[in-house]
Amino acid sequence: MILDALSLTPGVELEADLCIVGGGAAGLSLASALEGSGLSVLVLEAGGRKFDAAAQEGLNGEVAEGSSHSPPHMYRRRVLGGATAIWGGRCVPYDPIDLERRPWVPMSGWPIAWRDLAAYYPRAQELCEAGAYAYDVSEALGPAAPPTIEGFSDPDIVASRLERFSRPTDFGKSTFARLAAAPAVRILLNAQALRLVTPEGDGPVQRLEGASAPGRGFTVRARHYVLASGGLEVPRLLMASDGSRRGGLGNAGGALGRYYMCHAENTLGRLRLRPSDRPVALDFEMTEDGVYVRRKFSFSAEAQRREGLLNTIFRLHYPLIADPAHGSGVLSAMYLVKDAILPEYRRKLATIEIANRGKMVRDGRFWFSHATNVLRDSPGVLRFGQAWLRKRTFASRKLPFVVVRARDGRYPLDVNAEQIPNPDSRVTLATARDAHGMPRLKVDWRLHPQDIDSLVRGMKVARAAFARSGCAELEFDDATIEAEVRASTPVGGHHIGTARMAETVRDGVVDADCAVHGVPNLFVASSAVFPTSSHANPTLTIVALALRLADHIQQLSARDEAPGFRAVPEIAA
Ligand SMILES: Cc1cc2nc3c(=O)[nH]c(=O)nc-3n(C[C@H](O)[C@H](O)[C@H](O)COP(=O)(O)OP(=O)(O)OC[C@H]3O[C@@H](n4cnc5c(N)ncnc54)[C@H](O)[C@@H]3O)c2cc1C
Repeated sequence: MILDALSLTPGVELEADLCIVGGGAAGLSLASALEGSGLSVLVLEAGGRKFDAAAQEGLNGEVAEGSSHSPPHMYRRRVLGGATAIWGGRCVPYDPIDLERRPWVPMSGWPIAWRDLAAYYPRAQELCEAGAYAYDVSEALGPAAPPTIEGFSDPDIVASRLERFSRPTDFGKSTFARLAAAPAVRILLNAQALRLVTPEGDGPVQRLEGASAPGRGFTVRARHYVLASGGLEVPRLLMASDGSRRGGLGNAGGALGRYYMCHAENTLGRLRLRPSDRPVALDFEMTEDGVYVRRKFSFSAEAQRREGLLNTIFRLHYPLIADPAHGSGVLSAMYLVKDAILPEYRRKLATIEIANRGKMVRDGRFWFSHATNVLRDSPGVLRFGQAWLRKRTFASRKLPFVVVRARDGRYPLDVNAEQIPNPDSRVTLATARDAHGMPRLKVDWRLHPQDIDSLVRGMKVARAAFARSGCAELEFDDATIEAEVRASTPVGGHHIGTARMAETVRDGVVDADCAVHGVPNLFVASSAVFPTSSHANPTLTIVALALRLADHIQQLSARDEAPGFRAVPEIAA
């Protein structure tokens, strides 16, 4: 059932077995998994069914001086479906090494085993509409699939893995019909959770206070609560719920809001194929189950252990779009229309430009060169436009983006790197408040010297590996690479580690079951709980952990073991 909180009587009290805060990928996966379980589920979603600028304003916040993080309202969406309304759909599982305790990565080691997570990936794939759980080239594309770079093989670099792409699925749309028809699920739109009320000391949540508009408050009483409000709103709500516990819930050890990771993103070096026309699997391919996939490179687990590297991947990238010297009509056309694309993606282009400031002068000649590229290649641009309409605009499974072959066989590396959990990279509450009086967020994302060092050394390990293979040369300037790496930016939309999973409250906010330490009926389903960030885009793992949490809550309810349990009367529709 879908309800609008704006139509509730002010001060009304709602009851449920389970109250989920947030209707994004995590919250809607959890609700879907519990549909038909016998539990009554109430999902509170602060946004509506459609994007609304006024609702989005509630996500505004501050960025600390010196942090290159984007403003907090960017790369998020306050709408049913959350950020999956605009995500790219790249699905990547974590690697087994990511969950290990790695002596060179401080605070590493998840309190759950790899198999505990991996068991949920196949079902997470289904919800993400990303096809089979197959991430090896031969598994996904068959044994006859060409190698990523013909002739390339090296023990330090894995070139046989790929990324799979969701449609991209907007969870607010894909789960809507089923959840709207589910008798025991209610989705309450325009319903912002403002605080959780708990007793002093350890003890369960007694009630949740929320509002649909100033002066239109409501209360929820539930046996269990799950915060599925995203990696930035989870710590915000826990910190704002400080009525009985200083610093907020789950924060007795001071970990709440700290250890904030996003992945460091950059375009580094150039891989020069030898010879320049050496066959390379550059573009998107399609699996037999009709899913777009793309190849990637990563450091082998052995190389990571030997060199003390953070888990990092790279892909072959297109030339700098802004620089007309690439000679591509398609890329120039993309650059000229860039102002028509989503601000989130426009910012990414702008960031790359800023990193290259000084290398390009935007004078009349600059614009003339782009226009010349488009005109010279107008049949190609036209063909591309038609293909784009067919494969992207009108297709239900969309081509993720455009990959352009380099005429000279040189490809910059598009790098995504793990960051260490750093207590000084953090989010806190600002003094400013939103329309409901809830403190806004202040984000202070940081790159740690170890993040920089790992990426610089990783580039050198990759250079040596490609040189050994004789297939390619990785070119970069030793004198400037550290400065280039230092300019890496956080991947927008990846909000990790702010309520990390750890055995004790000294090291984290939730336990291995994702229950908040000291609040036994409160759980978190979000990338906020990931103790380390891997290189992997987070959504597939968010969904996998939400499904795992659904099983746990069902078991708890079946055994009637929930601390703080009290019988909940039948819910009136
Ligand atoms: C441009 C972009 C591209 C991306 N590309 C990828 C990609 O290719 N691959 C990938 O894995 N990830 C990608 N991401 C990240 C991905 O979108 C997120 O990981 C994912 O959507 C997170 O899901 P979530 O449910 O945890 O949180 P969210 O999507 O943030 O959903 C949380 C929901 O909770 C609601 N909410 C928040 N606070 C409250 C409150 N107090 N009360 C009630 N409701 C509340 C919000 O309105 C929202 O609907 C991308 C993100 C962006 C922005």
